[in-house]
Amino acid sequence: MLASWTCLLAYTVWYSTSAKNLAPITVNEARLLWKIHKQHISCPSKKWRIIKRRNKIIGFECGCGYKHVQKRPIVASVPMPKVGPHGSQESVLDKLHAPYKSD
Ligand SMILES: [Zn+2]
Repeated sequence: MLASWTCLLAYTVWYSTSAKNLAPITVNEARLLWKIHKQHISCPSKKWRIIKRRNKIIGFECGCGYKHVQKRPIVASVPMPKVGPHGSQESVLDKLHAPYKSD
């Protein structure tokens, strides 16, 4: 009895801590992150899927096997493309909030 309670408690603690560290994202953001991944490593894969937890999208899995789980709010952890000294963080954020265009 005691052991199962301990297990349950450990599980609950793990579950709430891990959920706290994950930042749900939208399908469009997941798709954008996938496109960034493809550009970043010139990935040729045409397939991807979203990774969900508790009905929230938390990342994506690329057809090449690459998995990305969003651990922090998206603005803080999107890999920035290589840019000049003045940076282009704003344009990346603009892209994140741009309406989805199908291709
Ligand atoms: Zn890939």
